[in-house]
Amino acid sequence: MTKYDNVVILGAGLSGLGCGLNLPGARIYEAKHHPGGHAYSHTLKNHHFDEGAHICHTQNSEFLNLITKQAGDICEINQSIVSNRWGDKWLTYPVQNHLRQLPLETRIPALTDLVIAQIDSQDSQSLNYRDWCLRQYGQTLTETFYEVFTKKYWRSDMEEMSTDWLGGRLLKSVLPSIIHGAFDERAEDQTKFSKFYYPKKGGFFSFFKPLYLDLDISYREKVVEIDLINKNLYFESGTTTSYDILASSVPLPVLVNSIKDVPSNIMYLSAKLKWTQSVIINFILNSPILRNEHWFYIYNEEIEASRVSIPSNITSTSNNTNCFQAEIFRHNEETYDIEYLQENTNRSMQNIFGYCDNDVSSTSTITAPFSYVISDKERESAVSQILEWLEANKIYSMGLYGNWKYMWSDIAYYSGQNTAYKIHKEFQK
Ligand SMILES: Cc1cc2nc3c(=O)[nH]c(=O)nc-3n(C[C@H](O)[C@H](O)[C@H](O)COP(=O)(O)OP(=O)(O)OC[C@H]3O[C@@H](n4cnc5c(N)ncnc54)[C@H](O)[C@@H]3O)c2cc1C
Repeated sequence: MTKYDNVVILGAGLSGLGCGLNLPGARIYEAKHHPGGHAYSHTLKNHHFDEGAHICHTQNSEFLNLITKQAGDICEINQSIVSNRWGDKWLTYPVQNHLRQLPLETRIPALTDLVIAQIDSQDSQSLNYRDWCLRQYGQTLTETFYEVFTKKYWRSDMEEMSTDWLGGRLLKSVLPSIIHGAFDERAEDQTKFSKFYYPKKGGFFSFFKPLYLDLDISYREKVVEIDLINKNLYFESGTTTSYDILASSVPLPVLVNSIKDVPSNIMYLSAKLKWTQSVIINFILNSPILRNEHWFYIYNEEIEASRVSIPSNITSTSNNTNCFQAEIFRHNEETYDIEYLQENTNRSMQNIFGYCDNDVSSTSTITAPFSYVISDKERESAVSQILEWLEANKIYSMGLYGNWKYMWSDIAYYSGQNTAYKIHKEFQK
């Protein structure tokens, strides 16, 4: 028996890992048959396809050391190769830094608008996402690229979105770079993800797999009811267990829904939370992939996929097959026809990569009911009230979906670790 025996951790994703490693004896219950959550990699033939996280670009040396120590050989990529697909053109990412690649009739208004926007720009804390883009990139780039992509990727109107999720994802315009890129080819040096790490074998999850070995995890245990008064948990399988303290990485709307007799105001706040779900379509080809990108974004509205990554351009493959993955996003309120999405993706990828049906060795489709948290104007206040109420009821909510705030894999791990430290303190009281 350890003092943490009656601490229960819900979810064996990276926040569950960070929490579990720092609470010896705590019991973890995981809905799926494997650990890793959104950092898991699925195997198809000899290839590995990541479910969420694709690359590690942490600048935290402690975290890097932790995950690389046992993961085997690592690819260290110093300069990511990232493009935008727009019509039938390839543009270097991010578009505003490479205006020279746009046709003249788009380049001239794009540059003019961007310069005007920069001159007029005033800093304001309360911008919506559209206004932020207009101020940074000007009208032509905002409407031609960012607005179209937002509809595909976030499935939301730009005006509805806040800017608290940007955190380095989108870059502020640096005028000398923009002007340089409008006249001449320039090496991309501004992107946050230039340098990244990836395991040579096993996909992204290889970074974490060995770290789970000593944890007490029960798989296929999806919590469906939480009784706060009697401190009992009920699982879909029929299992029941008691707890003193709960650390949860279950998505907030699911967690709130599973709490017995939850107050109506908490239910109301939880109903405001919005997110995207994803359909991930993986392909293995017998033919070469004649592109060198690590990943690219697609701006064409008729193509359902928003982002395509090419793992075999990061790790070399041994058996002459190559692979890529297309990600499609849907709003949580949308339904979708999976066969249509598969067909649309296969046809559009054939067009982009130039392969034919006979070149396809295998495909697989993964659906993730939770992908990105949509940061709209309601999110921050609703989440802080829900978290406060949960904590008052001895539920520490952690990680990406527990905090309902986008976080990279390292931050999710540390969110779990910090939750463990809070629980330590609770025991010391
Ligand atoms: C599309 C996408 C791309 C990303 N790309 C990157 C990237 O390139 N680099 C990077 O560093 N980070 C990336 N991230 C972020 C990173 O993947 C996450 O921060 C991290 O994996 C989240 O870990 P978590 O433990 O908070 O949540 P999760 O991974 O979701 O873990 C939660 C766990 O809880 C389990 N669970 C859910 N409901 C229940 C229930 N009712 N009962 C029991 N268990 C339950 C789930 O099965 C899951 O295993 C990406 C995220 C997404 C969504």
